[in-house]
Amino acid sequence: MAPAPRLLSVAVTAALAAALVGCSQTPASAPSVSAGNDAALRLSALTDLDERVARVAWRLSEANAALCPAVRQSAGWALHSAKQYSEDLRPHATERFGLRGDLPGVLSSPTGSPAAAAGFQPGDLLLAADGRPLAPGDHAGAPSWDGLGRNLRVVDEALADGGARFRVQRGAQTLELAVQAEHACGYDVQLNPSDELNARADGRRLFISTALAGFAASDDELAVILGHELAHHVLRHRHWSEAGGAARQTNDEAWVTQGGGGGAEQQADRVGLYLSARAGYDPAAAAPFWRRFGESNWRVRFPQIGHASAGSRARALEGVQREIEAKRAAGEELLP
Ligand SMILES: [Zn+2]
Repeated sequence: MAPAPRLLSVAVTAALAAALVGCSQTPASAPSVSAGNDAALRLSALTDLDERVARVAWRLSEANAALCPAVRQSAGWALHSAKQYSEDLRPHATERFGLRGDLPGVLSSPTGSPAAAAGFQPGDLLLAADGRPLAPGDHAGAPSWDGLGRNLRVVDEALADGGARFRVQRGAQTLELAVQAEHACGYDVQLNPSDELNARADGRRLFISTALAGFAASDDELAVILGHELAHHVLRHRHWSEAGGAARQTNDEAWVTQGGGGGAEQQADRVGLYLSARAGYDPAAAAPFWRRFGESNWRVRFPQIGHASAGSRARALEGVQREIEAKRAAGEELLP
């Protein structure tokens, strides 16, 4: 089977992973996610972060389709299902979002996305795609995204030729909505519940931890992080392999061939800032973000083997920011 790039809902992995780690693992540096023990609050914090990551990821993916090695037709939405949530969160997810079993529900329909243009709203439940019914599955039991994954394949097949019609439940109403998909970078974006401040890319996906997404104080800062990870794809630093660890090995090779001293990471910082600026985010957010990150995290305050310190990263990014501003002033296209 060809590994066609396919966007999973940002919410899918996040919520299931949350279910897997349970409430015993409280993210220490993501207070928004650990707010209280109340399941409704935890659900709210998680889905708010998911929605934010989905919104920024969509803008980056759409604005940079021309630079991405893998593209696909996308509606730009984030979809989730009741079944993906842990049994304590599921009743709240069902009530709040009108979810049912494995049926994909709209978590986010970002402004400017094809889904928003088609009139999709958070809380809409997808019942059929191009006349093919989606399977509700069963409602009880352990959390799983298998049924949602099968439904998302039907959704993606419907979108693959550009246009698709969906039967949608909105409250008591049933609607027909037609969406015109757009080319976007073809990578999944996943929010992983974790108290580690990290993000990574593996050739097919971009991952960001809840702690790091929560640390980003604005969409501009979130775009700095996701832009950097997307840049690893644009620069072909990451090659997907079914064999575990292959992506990391590729990165280590890139490190060596580009002269060490953080070559691949510096390139990803530079290209990532361009990707972020091309999507309309403020490149001036990068340097202060890295300085604040360095102050909060002793591991990046001083240079480590192969890694620049947060301070030198920030200085390098100020140089890239000036480069971008000069190109803008000259009316040139923002190409890295
Ligand atoms: Zn990197």
